[in-house]
Amino acid sequence: MHESRGNIIDGAGYAAALRERLAGHVAALKASSGKVPGLTVVIVGDDPASQVYVKSKGEQTQAIGMESRTIRLPDTTSEDELLSIVDGLNRDENVNGILVQLPLPKHMSALKVIDAINPDKDVDGFHVESVGRLSVGLPGLVSCTPLGCLMLLQDAVKTYGDTLSGKNAVVVGRSNIVGKPMAQLLLAQDCTVTIAHSKTRNLQDICLGADILVAAIGRTKFIPGGWIKDGAYVIDVGMNREVIDGKQKLFGDVDFETAKTRALAITPVPRGVGPMTIACLLNNTLKAFCLQNRLPVPEGV
Ligand code: NAP
Repeated sequence: MHESRGNIIDGAGYAAALRERLAGHVAALKASSGKVPGLTVVIVGDDPASQVYVKSKGEQTQAIGMESRTIRLPDTTSEDELLSIVDGLNRDENVNGILVQLPLPKHMSALKVIDAINPDKDVDGFHVESVGRLSVGLPGLVSCTPLGCLMLLQDAVKTYGDTLSGKNAVVVGRSNIVGKPMAQLLLAQDCTVTIAHSKTRNLQDICLGADILVAAIGRTKFIPGGWIKDGAYVIDVGMNREVIDGKQKLFGDVDFETAKTRALAITPVPRGVGPMTIACLLNNTLKAFCLQNRLPVPEGV
């Protein structure tokens, strides 16, 4: 029996189970084809947060039996040098997924570099071809964070014998990496989707109409509980670092304590959406491997 409000959507638990399923697929592929999926991450410069993400990506890739490689470049690297490295990875058939860690140093164009990645290896789902495929409903590689949010939502509605179809979904935030692809994914699930942003008027009223609310804003506790429709599903993408009493703490974009009194189910921060992002990166790498090798993509991947 579930509580009627404030149920926790356990992103960390879901991500761990997803990684375990993926590890099983990798082992089966190794047994049948003798090959395992390979992910190469390229990082330029020494941004501390990016270094942490990249380390974690490498460790989690290896942990499920995939081939992991990290190329570390100094921030003095020229854009042409980076483009030629990407070109080499595009040609390397042992590399199934390529991820160029963002942000890039200021002298490089992220759009140009992403555009240089072979879309078949675009495991971040940021290439215009991947974005276009999502938009017109063709199969392809989907941006990891919104894909993770969708998996959590699908699981949550299933838990309550519910469905996404026909629900009013509000996505607050319109970035290329979260808000826009999230809206496309929800549209593809037959939700009625509203995208809100910093120029949106009457945001409170719009949020109050949301059966599904996805917050991807980047501002600590920006959405108070009073903006949540009674019985809504709430996905908090926010990862806002604040220093409190000398210690760094992570906060979401939603005020969790007040929101959980109204939401049917809600993701916490941390241990909500965060762990899903890398798990979905591994999911995309497996999918890319299967497509490149003309192997069937396992169900659920
Ligand atoms: P972003 O590129 O900065 O986009 C933020 C969006 O929020 C923009 O569309 C902006 O509107 C909107 N916004 C800003 N202030 C607003 C306001 N007052 N009212 C309504 N909308 C407002 O951020 P992002 O990359 O999408 O990331 C959003 C959050 O998710 C951040 O906390 C980030 O750390 C987190 N994140 C988490 C993961 C994860 O793995 N869990 C992955 C990616 C991002 P405009 O377009 O009008 O400026």
